[in-house]
Amino acid sequence: MISYGRQTIEQQDLDAVIEVLKSDWLTQGPNVTKFENSVRDYVGAKYGVAVNSATSGLHIAYLALGLGYGDYVWTTPNTFVATANAALYCGAKVDFVDINLNDYNLDVNKLEQKLITAKQENKLPKIVTPVHFAGLSCDMKRLRELSSEYGFYIVEDASHAIGGKYDGDFVGCCKYSDFAIFSFHPVKIITTGEGGMVMTNNQKLADKVKKLRSHGITRDEKEYKNPIDGRWNYEQIEIGFNYRMPDINAILGFSQVQRLSDFVNRRNQIADKYKLELQKVKIGYQIYNCTKKLNSYHLFVILLDSKQERYELDKFLFDNGYSSQVHYYPVYLQPYYRDLGFKAGLCPIAEDYYSRCLSIPIFPTLVDKDIDKIIELITKFKTKVYK
Ligand SMILES: *Cc1c(COP(=O)(O)O)cnc(C)c1O
Repeated sequence: MISYGRQTIEQQDLDAVIEVLKSDWLTQGPNVTKFENSVRDYVGAKYGVAVNSATSGLHIAYLALGLGYGDYVWTTPNTFVATANAALYCGAKVDFVDINLNDYNLDVNKLEQKLITAKQENKLPKIVTPVHFAGLSCDMKRLRELSSEYGFYIVEDASHAIGGKYDGDFVGCCKYSDFAIFSFHPVKIITTGEGGMVMTNNQKLADKVKKLRSHGITRDEKEYKNPIDGRWNYEQIEIGFNYRMPDINAILGFSQVQRLSDFVNRRNQIADKYKLELQKVKIGYQIYNCTKKLNSYHLFVILLDSKQERYELDKFLFDNGYSSQVHYYPVYLQPYYRDLGFKAGLCPIAEDYYSRCLSIPIFPTLVDKDIDKIIELITKFKTKVYK
């Protein structure tokens, strides 16, 4: 069975991890710094803080911006639950802005309308979290303009999008945002097993997330409240977590970064082939201005004509050895969120999109024979030869 995504682990990854296992450092140590610097330099941000998941990263990025009780985070419903959950961890509330059917990202026009209303009601969000869905950047310039006008922070959930570009810059450079968060879960573009990284250009915010990553402890004498007692001194000056990434995982990430551009190129090759062939049978997929953006294609999502057609194609592919997935069930329709008071109908486009979307296999080691077979199956299905 071929799944919609999988990691690429090669000999150099194995060698790198074994070497660290034999070294003095297993948990956060020199290889975390090495990995942080490699991602920071790749994407062109000033700071990178490695954590044990993107979920942890989102949590401490929100906290570093002062998110708490009474505050709102707005995001897209077309995301993994973690984007919204992390706001709830802080005691904040969440709300959702509908997507558009071109690129399946948060619709900035709808965001603007919602901001106008929220301003009148004095309920503006403290943070807006765009999610670069499937690896395709949101319209960051518009978001930055709206953030200046309405005074919210921007935290990019870039879990899908490392290696992608927006207007010539790599996603994660934080040119238009306060933070960007990457995920290194095995289905994402590069992996550390579990892991994530918080990118920022703001030194204060970077220092803050570093403290929150490790219990709220500082080893910076300038921050000490008490006189130094000895060489062993450290102080806990706020409440934090153990969100550290082990060196074992960090070296895997470092090894993977060396092939990041190869991974993204191969994903784009596969996507180009899908697009070329599937447009012939009128299959929908993400539409965007290719000269300004590079999609990292964590996912390749197709849009069918109806809910029924999606069910049937999913089954047809599955029966032939290809396991697709659906990204995403609108977050606010999850039972937990319904219990908070969210109701169907809040984001009609995202609900319609969910009923018809399907993520078909895309990952660097997917071979041409399988790509051709998947295209053949979908083409047959669409032309009803399969029946
Ligand atoms: C995978 C993912 C996350 C969570 O990442 P973890 O590293 O598994 O915590 C958050 N947001 C989005 C959009 C994701 O796809």
